[in-house]
Amino acid sequence: MDINSKNIEDIVRKVLEGMTGGSAAGAASAPSTAAAPIPKTARVAMLVEKEKYEIKEFPLPPVGDDDILVKVEGCGICGTDAHEFKRDPFNLIPVVLGHEGTGEIVKMGKNVKKDSAGKDLHLGDKVVTCMIFKDNPDITMFDLNKQNVGGADVYGLLPDDDIHFNGWFSDYLLIRKGSTVFNVSDLDLYSRVLIEPCAVLVHAVERAKTTGILRFNSRVVVQGCGPIGLICIAVLRTMGIQNITAVDGEEKRLEFAKQMGADRSVNFKQYQGIENLAKAVEESFGGHLADFAFQCTGSPIAHSNIYKFIRNGGGLCELGFFINGGDATINPHFDICAKEITTVGSWVYTLRDYATTFDFLKRAKGIGLPMDKLITHTFPLEEINEAHRTNLRMEGLKIAIINR
Ligand SMILES: [Zn+2]
Repeated sequence: MDINSKNIEDIVRKVLEGMTGGSAAGAASAPSTAAAPIPKTARVAMLVEKEKYEIKEFPLPPVGDDDILVKVEGCGICGTDAHEFKRDPFNLIPVVLGHEGTGEIVKMGKNVKKDSAGKDLHLGDKVVTCMIFKDNPDITMFDLNKQNVGGADVYGLLPDDDIHFNGWFSDYLLIRKGSTVFNVSDLDLYSRVLIEPCAVLVHAVERAKTTGILRFNSRVVVQGCGPIGLICIAVLRTMGIQNITAVDGEEKRLEFAKQMGADRSVNFKQYQGIENLAKAVEESFGGHLADFAFQCTGSPIAHSNIYKFIRNGGGLCELGFFINGGDATINPHFDICAKEITTVGSWVYTLRDYATTFDFLKRAKGIGLPMDKLITHTFPLEEINEAHRTNLRMEGLKIAIINR
């Protein structure tokens, strides 16, 4: 057998590919498409009226010197996408939604050299965009709203214009100058789709740490085991917190919470009245109340209840109310003053949290947390209406559009 140096290179490459290609089924990155010719036209899923996306085909725009053309691989459906689909509260129709997307660079203007973190960008790199401006790293989504989201290159919230490729629910996205873009080629497809929701929890845990109460050995209760609560548990586990009790009303979700790293679970449906429920939480910690609590549901009653799970001098992070869920009743004397509870609210994320999230996802995989399983349903672009209806029916956890 004639083994020259070229053959050896090939063998080494194959062995290395075999070593690194161990990602779960469905989560592997799509093969590079950078070499494939770019078509003249491409599809977008445009929300043309409430509860109705239409697949439309447009000519791909020219790629300017400061632009990046991305072939979309996939995009998660956010709760806000579902709200916009149902009621158009943001008044964006007609619009191409999708802000939890990722894809591969297939064309770049000559001025584009680096991403928003200063990392090199090349053809074939996998990227995500972020809703936060790179010009001001400390700005949060909350401030951004005040500064008019519509004026920024926030992909998935840009109303339709002559470009059309403005959101990630599409075959291609044109990333324009001034956008926040990150090279995340070292993450697999499902991890990249999960970056945006995970950043929400990385931020919440950062907010919780500002109380000085949350430590590696804290007893922590996480109430609500939808995607937000489950990712919250995962973030806590990657920072070394072991003593976690998950609270929810669905056995299936509580089971998943344990896979994500919760030590114990409490099903609130098994307890009559808040006193008994609080007792169950206390028993889960061996007769102690929680040092810290994360409230991850959008239910006002859940907010009222959670104070009863927290010890004197403990802390609370409230992050469940992405939309107005109504008023919650608490007793300020018993719930806050007499117990000296420190409370923080958390909302979306900062740019710094976004970058930190890339490493969180690697750590989560490294310690064996089944992050991929959070994506329970995938749909092709042409089934986007059904994908949103599935989301609105609250079936599964995270739902994503995956382009094949
Ligand atoms: Zn989102």
